[in-house]
Amino acid sequence: EGIIVKALSGYYYVSPLREGEIASVDEPVQCRARGIFKKRGQSPLVGDRVVYSLTENGEGTVDEIGPRESELIRPPVANVQLAVLLFSIREPDLNLQLLDKFLVHIEHAGLETLIVLTKRDLAEDEEEGTALVKRLYEEIGYEVLVTSSRTGDGSEELRRKLEGRVSVFAGQSGVGKSSMLNRIVPGLTLETSEISLRLGRGRHTTRHVELMDIGGGGYVADTPGFSQLDFLELGVEELSSCFREFISYSEECKFRGCTHTHEPGCRVVEAVENGEIADSRYQHYKLFFNEMKDKKRRY
Ligand code: GDP
Ligand code: ZN
Repeated sequence: EGIIVKALSGYYYVSPLREGEIASVDEPVQCRARGIFKKRGQSPLVGDRVVYSLTENGEGTVDEIGPRESELIRPPVANVQLAVLLFSIREPDLNLQLLDKFLVHIEHAGLETLIVLTKRDLAEDEEEGTALVKRLYEEIGYEVLVTSSRTGDGSEELRRKLEGRVSVFAGQSGVGKSSMLNRIVPGLTLETSEISLRLGRGRHTTRHVELMDIGGGGYVADTPGFSQLDFLELGVEELSSCFREFISYSEECKFRGCTHTHEPGCRVVEAVENGEIADSRYQHYKLFFNEMKDKKRRY
């Protein structure tokens, strides 16, 4: 058994699994997929747990694909267990609207989430603001780490969270994803934006996805060029349930199917008014709701 860590030019690179655990010791085996998958309209994905066999030339064949627990569309990775959302406190400024948007998608996909605030060292005068944001999200049940890859704050905690599972890192470019991975993975030297600026070229030229072995049985989906997460399509009627702290209130709204926008007897609006639900969260809910409705667009 193994896990596909990379897919490139028709080859799948499979790392062996021992007793279901990812063994980080062996080199991945370069495999072709069996023709039968194509006939079934099935195609192996990075992150798939597979059964493979070795051929004479030292290569291998993917024989079976295990059932998928989750499937992301962008980046195309199967069986991601943890979504790590990285947001810098400064440079660029913390964007709570984007954070809430990512959270909607992750709730919808049913993944575990970790919010990582980066560049703490740049925001020493904003400790209070950072603490407020941390509290806001912790109160609704998300875990939040405040980190700096400059000083190393929080990086050991983050490394431990990544052990033994497959995670995906998401966040706008420039928030410090590469710097953080370099910090927590011994010997890793991902290019950070200073370096690419110095060399006079843009980053993220490759488009293939790869699972990065970070030791301790942990893999991180390295997502060049992806600053967004796309999951299966989300309908507007599902939006409110993706704001997890709304759920217990919305069950008590006067009208079934209350959209929490204009209806009388809305318990969600009441909770916003008396401070039980954060105003920023509700404003973002309304914004996404209107966007989805107006454009008849599916997120
Ligand atoms: P990515 O695009 O998300 O991978 O971000 P990078 O890791 O390339 O970092 C973007 C810029 O932010 C680079 O100039 C980094 O040196 C800088 N940076 C990253 N982490 C920190 C940090 O913790 N503190 C400070 N002051 N700068 C950081
Ligand atoms: Zn309501």
